[in-house]
Amino acid sequence: AIPVITIDGPVGSGKGTIAARLAERLGWHLLDSGALYRLVALSAMDGGVAAEDEAALERLAAELDAVFRFEQGALRIFLQGREVTGAIREEAVSTLASRVASVGAVRDALEKRQRAFRQAPGLVADGRDMGTVIFPDAKLKIFLTANVQARAERRYKQLKEKGESVNLSRLFGDLEARDRRDTQRDVAPLKPAPDAVTIDSTAMSIEEVVHAVVKLAEE
Ligand code: C5P
Repeated sequence: AIPVITIDGPVGSGKGTIAARLAERLGWHLLDSGALYRLVALSAMDGGVAAEDEAALERLAAELDAVFRFEQGALRIFLQGREVTGAIREEAVSTLASRVASVGAVRDALEKRQRAFRQAPGLVADGRDMGTVIFPDAKLKIFLTANVQARAERRYKQLKEKGESVNLSRLFGDLEARDRRDTQRDVAPLKPAPDAVTIDSTAMSIEEVVHAVVKLAEE
């Protein structure tokens, strides 16, 4: 089987950055599964679809016209031919994505599309349920965590670098609300797979985490 490394974890654990570095280093494909939920959210916003309209959300997920381009370690994302790499990271999209992701029919509609990313020579998959639901046979499963303070500070720095004005205490609140939704929802809640290796990145640099995962992958 084509090898898969899954990296699951909460907001701000650094999994997006780690997954991209790892895929680049190994020369493997990259699946940013959160981007799919973000794309459904953005499509809903564009099309005036309400967060409660589950049938319409399912249709958007099934018909999503998305293209992912992973080049030189950076992921670019296109929706109906329009680049939305930055747009899907905005806070309004993040919040709606986490609501959209609790709709079972939306998750089902995105399942096949996610598995299609598994192509030679290998795949690094980043998300919440990569190791538990989408790739249960992955050869290495990482559960990446960090304490809430560190995660809020990382998000704060990221947003600042993008030139967005941010309020740390609001960001803290948003992050905890998203964590709560992700871990307590009925469908595919965020939790480590039984065979996952947990890495706490609170006091680690990105390079240290990448190094630790590469070592585990070589074992
Ligand atoms: O990882 P990211 O923050 O981009 O994910 C956006 C949202 O999509 C998350 O808040 C989470 O609710 C949802 N998600 C999910 N399952 C995944 C990836 C993301 O439910 N595999």
